[in-house]
Amino acid sequence: MSEVPPWRWDEETWRRHVGYIRAGRPLLPGTWPGGARAAVALSFDSDHETIHLRDGDTGPGKLSQGEFGSRVGARRILALLAERLIPATFFMPAVSALLHPEEVRRYVAEGHEVAMHGWIHERNMTLQPQDERELALRSVDVLEKSSGARPVGIRTPSWDFSSATMAITRELGLLYDSSLMADDEPYEIIQEGEPTGIVEIPVEWIRDDAVYFPMDRYTALRPYAAPRSVLSIWIDEFEGAYADGGLFQLTMHPHVIGHRSRMAVLAELIEHISSRDGVWFATHAQVAEYALAHA
Ligand SMILES: [Zn+2]
Repeated sequence: MSEVPPWRWDEETWRRHVGYIRAGRPLLPGTWPGGARAAVALSFDSDHETIHLRDGDTGPGKLSQGEFGSRVGARRILALLAERLIPATFFMPAVSALLHPEEVRRYVAEGHEVAMHGWIHERNMTLQPQDERELALRSVDVLEKSSGARPVGIRTPSWDFSSATMAITRELGLLYDSSLMADDEPYEIIQEGEPTGIVEIPVEWIRDDAVYFPMDRYTALRPYAAPRSVLSIWIDEFEGAYADGGLFQLTMHPHVIGHRSRMAVLAELIEHISSRDGVWFATHAQVAEYALAHA
């Protein structure tokens, strides 16, 4: 980090920061597979215990909330997806995959994608580049062993994208990233003015369950939305994507959405989306691959 305060930066400096990673050409196909009008990519970040482990918060109480994610949440989600024949993407920290190997096997057996989500949900911006790289290399190997396929996508934990992340993503030869927010629709990532060939499947906090529901007993963190008001936000996001012929991408967490009152919202959302003609449910990898080939 520069010692010079930002208000003293010269034009070259602030242009360099802004220009480092940018959105390049839009990757929005005219139509989606089968002539579909909109694509829907549901994702679940199977963090489970790793968020608390990352913070060194090893009390059984906190860890049991993560355990719920695997023991109850992931099972409910898998049952719902199987009932509706919907494929999804599960982003999983390597430590979570090592703690729950049978869960990873189930994701794969039921036709879902397993993709990268850090080692122990580390915060990339706090790491040295060589440490971030080493954790990514270890993580991709763990997921390849546990899922039987080498991951083609990454979502950085907490969407924490450092100045080293892009180089690592390129070194791993990944197809896509899903941690940036420069558009609603897929786009090609530009690094220092050069197209990278890597697809961004953009995320947004609006379309993330972790914004609306979690609470912490000892801080001011409290849920600020009732589940059914979140449903109305997500339906409006989907309807906008449908009108635009674009992508509706959603991020959820088994330990957050997996509770009964919230699973009801996810079931209703899927019901609503399925009531529209011409919707293509796909994994993030399928969306990235199709968008890259057809835009
Ligand atoms: Zn996560």
